[in-house]
Amino acid sequence: MRCDLHVHTTASDGTVTPAALITQACETGIGRLAISDHDTLAGYDEAAKSLSADASTSLELIPGIELSTQWEKTGIHVLGLNFNPASDAIRDAVCHQQNARQRRAERIAEKLEKLGIPDPLAGASRIAGAASIGRPHFAQYLVESGIVASTEMAFKKHLGAGKAGDVREFWPSMPQIIEWIRDAGGTAVLAHPAKYNLTRSKLVRLIDTFRDAGGLGMEVISGAQSDGETARLAKLCNQMNLLGSAGSDFHRPGQRWAMLGQVPPIPGSCTPVWDQW
Ligand code: AMP
Ligand code: MN
Ligand code: MN
Ligand code: MN
Repeated sequence: MRCDLHVHTTASDGTVTPAALITQACETGIGRLAISDHDTLAGYDEAAKSLSADASTSLELIPGIELSTQWEKTGIHVLGLNFNPASDAIRDAVCHQQNARQRRAERIAEKLEKLGIPDPLAGASRIAGAASIGRPHFAQYLVESGIVASTEMAFKKHLGAGKAGDVREFWPSMPQIIEWIRDAGGTAVLAHPAKYNLTRSKLVRLIDTFRDAGGLGMEVISGAQSDGETARLAKLCNQMNLLGSAGSDFHRPGQRWAMLGQVPPIPGSCTPVWDQW
């Protein structure tokens, strides 16, 4: 069965609405899908509603969320999967994270203003609308204002690691976010471990911290990656005694790394995260 356990919708920084995503997932032949928007369940809630109205599909929609945390000096993403979406723990997490995102957006805006960029908070907020506000909305504002030529440049100059918009201090600790996921009955999965640009020894330290806090899985497949990368991550997954997960990290049609559902199967050497569900 084709599984994609990491996708975004318009509820965070994706461009496809939850309902359209469900339709596209069915058309693509995905059997098991997790909508994992940044720090919100609004997309999952809407998708669950549209799925329950459609009796013709056997698509299994797994409750998901991508929670932001900070470890040492790095912003880290942890996926919560297969939790009880009605639980107080996960609703508390969303409430806390939405508050943190808003205060962080204000801080990012202050820092961009100091660089001479006009009205960044109003601009990014207008673009985000009801979505969970984040750096991609600031990036789009910088592009629309003619300050940079592309979102890629916006991250490179103003929003990426070490730049003004790289504000992490509002995020809760790793143990806190994993506690929310576990209290909600879910599985904590380290998202895209290769994307943090950590040395191997630092990545092992990150995984140790993650596991000590109750984390159970890691993404062995994230978007389009080379076979060599998959083999390296599968080995690490087994060495660290974690379960393996796979997700496209789909945000929009035409994105560089992977399309919805375009994820190779998890290598047979790894135990899939859904084995215990
Ligand atoms: P935030 O959740 O506000 O920290 O924003 C992080 C999101 O920004 C990621 O999930 C990506 O979707 C997006 N992002 C990160 N780096 C880049 C980049 N270099 N170019 C475009 N989008 C990026
Ligand atoms: Mn994103
Ligand atoms: Mn992420
Ligand atoms: Mn993501």
